[in-house]
Amino acid sequence: MRDIKCNTCGSADYEERRITYLYSHQGQYLIVPNTPVEICSDCGTVYYSAEVLKNIERQFFAIRNHTETPDQYLQVPVKSL
Ligand SMILES: [Zn+2]
Repeated sequence: MRDIKCNTCGSADYEERRITYLYSHQGQYLIVPNTPVEICSDCGTVYYSAEVLKNIERQFFAIRNHTETPDQYLQVPVKSL
């Protein structure tokens, strides 16, 4: 997918995976299942493509402005340590 090296460890070995991404903006959140990422096979650093992040941001604001509806709402417990 890319030829550049990991910023953290210098490895050129990446795995493509899908993760659940938590977007936050001014105390509001959007959970994004199946977000495609690249993960360094050596040190585990996660890389997001600019395109994916832009898309997530767009969806967040579309949902906030009620031009799009989310797939579902979750109730999430919060507890500080
Ligand atoms: Zn690495």
